[in-house]
Amino acid sequence: MRAELISTGTELLLGQILNTNARFLGQRLARLGIDVYFQTTVGDNNIRLAEAFNAALERADLIIITGGLGPTMDDLTKETIAGILGLDILLDDDSMARVEEFFKIRGRKMPEANKKQALIPKGALVIPNKTGTAPGAIIDNAGKTIVILPGPPVEMQPMFTKTVEPYLKKKQGRGSSVIVSRILRILGMGESTVEERIKDLVDEQTNPTIAFLAPQGEVFVRLTAKAGTEAEAGKMIGKFAKEIKKRLGDYVYGTDDDTMEQVVAGLLRKHGLTVSTAESCTGGLVAKRLTDIPGVSENFMYGIVSYADAAKTQLLGVPPEVIEKHGAVSEETAIEMVRGVRQVCGTDLSVAITGIAGPAGGTPEKPVGLVYIGFADHDTTIVQRYIFAGDREVIRWQTANVALNMLRKYLLHYKKGR
Ligand code: ATP
Ligand code: MG
Repeated sequence: MRAELISTGTELLLGQILNTNARFLGQRLARLGIDVYFQTTVGDNNIRLAEAFNAALERADLIIITGGLGPTMDDLTKETIAGILGLDILLDDDSMARVEEFFKIRGRKMPEANKKQALIPKGALVIPNKTGTAPGAIIDNAGKTIVILPGPPVEMQPMFTKTVEPYLKKKQGRGSSVIVSRILRILGMGESTVEERIKDLVDEQTNPTIAFLAPQGEVFVRLTAKAGTEAEAGKMIGKFAKEIKKRLGDYVYGTDDDTMEQVVAGLLRKHGLTVSTAESCTGGLVAKRLTDIPGVSENFMYGIVSYADAAKTQLLGVPPEVIEKHGAVSEETAIEMVRGVRQVCGTDLSVAITGIAGPAGGTPEKPVGLVYIGFADHDTTIVQRYIFAGDREVIRWQTANVALNMLRKYLLHYKKGR
C-alpha cells in the first residue's frame, strides 16, 4: 500500500506551527509497513487542496488528509474531497448528536456553524472524535482509501490510533510486514568513532538497517527492522542492539525516548545518594532537568545559580584570590565551586559548572564555548575542560548534558562503602 499525506492549514505554510501531524502519521504508517511516498502541505484554499488531492489520487492507494474540519468558512476539506469524488455530503445523525452533546456538557449553546461539522460524505465510515467536535471519515472509493482527520493533534492522534489503524491493519491482512525502529543514545563518543567501532555491522546491514544521527553533541544509532510481526522485528533489533552496546559500553546511556536526566535520576534513586549543583553559565539548567523527573526530591537537594563572582565567593566559599588569579572560568574556580557547594549543601555528591556561553565574552585563551565541569564526592574531585561549539543555547544544553553524564558514569560504577 502506497500512502500520501496532505496537511492543510495556512499557518503550516507560514511556519507558525510545526507539522507534527505529518511526523506522527509518518511514524505510525512506517510501523504498519505502509510506504509514504509524498507529503503535501496546502493552505486553507479549496482550489489548491483539490489540486493536491487529484495528484495524490494518481499515485497513492491511501490518502490521509488532516485539518479543515472546523466550523468556519476556511474549513473546506470534506466539501472539497466529496466534490472531487462525486459524493453527496449528508448530515450524520450520530455525529450531530455528539456535536450537540459536546456543547451541552460545557453549558454552551451550539453555534449554527457547528452543524456543518456533522456532515459526512455519503457512504463514508465515521471516525468518532472523543476529544473535539469534528468527526473524521474513511472513504473507500474506486480502490482508493481516503482518510479525513481534524487538524488538532489531541483530536487527530487518538482517532488515528483507535479507528484508522485497526482499519488499515485489517485491510492489509496477512502477509504484510511491520517496521520497528529503536534508537540507541550515545554521549561522549564522536559519530565517526561510533561508526568505526561498528563498521562491520554497518557494512553488512540489510535488515535491520543502521543509521546515524547526531543531534546537539550526541550520537543516535537508529536500528530499523522489517518483519512479519512486531515481536519478530523487536527480536531482530534486540540482537543488534546487544552487540552494539557491548562494543560501545558505557557510552550508550539510553534507548528511544530515555533522557539523560531520567537515567541519572534513576541511578541516584537506586543508590540512595544526594546531589547538589552550582551552576554559572547554564543558569540552573542541570537543576531544571533533574527536577523535570518526578520523585527526584529524595536525591536532588539544592541547585545554586552562582552567576556573579560574588555569588561564587559568598554562597560557595570560593576564595576571591582564586577568581582574581585564574578567572571565574578556570579549573581552579571549578574545583572550589564543586567542593564548596557539596560542603555548603551537605550532599553526597555535587556538580559545578563555569563557562562562557557566548556570543560575547570570548578571548583567544578563553574562547566562547569553554566550559569547566566539576564533580565531587567525599574524597574525589574531578574537573573536565571542554570547548563546545554552537550558539548559546546549544553550548548550555551540551554542558548540562555532559555534567549529567559525569554523574551517570560515577553512579554506574558506584559501590557502597567506597
Ligand atoms: P478546528 O476545528 O480547530 O478548526 P480543523 O480540523 O479545522 O480544526 P485546522 O483548522 O486545520 O483543523 O487546524 C486547527 C489547529 O490544529 C491548528 O491551529 C493547529 O494548532 C493544529 N494543527 C492543524 N494541523 C496541524 C499539523 N499538521 N500539525 C500540527 N498541528 C496542527
Ligand atoms: Mg479549522
